[in-house]
Amino acid sequence: MEPARIHITTYGCQMNRLDSELVQEVLLAAGAEVVDDPARANVLLFITCAVRAHAEDRVFSNIGKLAARKRRQPGLVVGLLGCMAQEHGPAVRRRAPLVDLVCAPGRLADLPDLIAAARAGRPAAALDPSRDASGAAAFAASDAALDAAEIRRTLGPAVPGQAYVVAMRGCDNFCSYCVVPFVRGPERSREPAAVLEEVRRLVGQGARQITLLGQAVNQYAAAQGRDREGAASWRAGRRWDLADLIEKAADTPGLSRLYFITNHPKAFQERLARVFRDVPHVCPYLHMPAQSGADAVLERMNRGYTAAEYLDRVAMVRSARPDVAVASDFIVGFPGETEADFAATCDLVRRVRFSGAFVFKYSPRPATPAARRWADDVPDAEKRRRHGALLALVESIAAEENQAFVGRTVRVFVEELSPRGGQARRLNGRGTSSANPQSATGNPQLRGRTPCRRIVVFDGPPTLVGGETGVQIHRATALTLFGTMQKT
Ligand code: SAH
Ligand code: SF4
Repeated sequence: MEPARIHITTYGCQMNRLDSELVQEVLLAAGAEVVDDPARANVLLFITCAVRAHAEDRVFSNIGKLAARKRRQPGLVVGLLGCMAQEHGPAVRRRAPLVDLVCAPGRLADLPDLIAAARAGRPAAALDPSRDASGAAAFAASDAALDAAEIRRTLGPAVPGQAYVVAMRGCDNFCSYCVVPFVRGPERSREPAAVLEEVRRLVGQGARQITLLGQAVNQYAAAQGRDREGAASWRAGRRWDLADLIEKAADTPGLSRLYFITNHPKAFQERLARVFRDVPHVCPYLHMPAQSGADAVLERMNRGYTAAEYLDRVAMVRSARPDVAVASDFIVGFPGETEADFAATCDLVRRVRFSGAFVFKYSPRPATPAARRWADDVPDAEKRRRHGALLALVESIAAEENQAFVGRTVRVFVEELSPRGGQARRLNGRGTSSANPQSATGNPQLRGRTPCRRIVVFDGPPTLVGGETGVQIHRATALTLFGTMQKT
């Protein structure tokens, strides 16, 4: 049999992007070849998201399109990985008969064996234990295998100079609409020593920006671990919380920016708010999804806070550090959401003045309490109207907030050559090109972010990608700041 040539397609959140790096690491360690061009591959892996039906439909449709290729290339293996794999299990073949291999998010370390089985025509499925079996303990072995792969991995090439690090896996919050607790298992906080070692390694390899990940990362609570310096006595006698982990991670020499996402409002403590003020390298950006501004909806969502409590948390953070940009997710059209409820969400947006927000239309997920209890009773046309109206409101406020940056010089972490360089260059050229000497030098357009994660577009040398530079801002829209690189 010819050797495996594997291509990976990744959908969904940051956790999935990190999973994609882990899959690469696991496969490379097993001696497999990972290829960039899907046409060259004989194994196609899809890392998937199950949070909304739309995300699933896209995966089913893209897998469906492989039918003709599979007829031409009979040995082709199609693998469904991640959240959809756990949600559907092998029964997914009823809807996607082309799938040969199914692998849950916790079982990614098993992939080399699964691929070998699938290529030999044997059944290939690895699912996580049911979350009610024996709780987090049931996940211990598969977590250890993932930890080993995560620690071994080298800095991913996706965004040079930046890396994600898992702080927590799974979720126990059971927001009523959400499939995550069912597909990613119970909440498990990683050993502090493992997290800190990984941060040090990645920074040692050139990462300047680290993002600690967890579904509700501020609920991090790990049994006291030993870090590399043997600091077992550090904060002796109690569990580590996220503030502890951040303080220690921020000490890493060479680290420039530290983020932690996503934060759950119900558990956001003053101790964590203070890290924005007290811990160097912690950036002024808080992703803390509100989901709704109506108390009745929040209650049915099982979110565990009221709109007033959400506002209190934001005030607490901003009293520690006034320039923290707060970003959110919202769901519109949740079952029973009235026009007055939607108005309350708009009111919350006006009060908090978010720097940005993702807005989603409610999508009933079969496994979830909301889908079992309530009809999806807000018509799609109304969901679309609320979706558009809320996005427009968020953007109009973000545009106003962004005006405050005009004339200021900001530190930009450069992520990439601007993907929309051509278009943005034309926009830039409208009134500002003469004030932008870089464009005359023939430098390409770069895209990066302020510490508060606002997008900045400017002309500069590609060698800056993965590093930081000062940029003076001279124009701002809702989503982007445009500026000129400062000479250092
Ligand atoms: N753990 C994170 C993110 C979970 S999923 C958190 O708690 O914030 C990312 C976002 O998808 C959620 O914040 C929510 O806004 C949205 N989402 C989750 N389930 C959804 C559903 N059934 N319908 C629509 N949006 C949903
Ligand atoms: Fe889902 Fe809620 Fe957990 Fe986020 S906190 S993953 S929305 S259950």
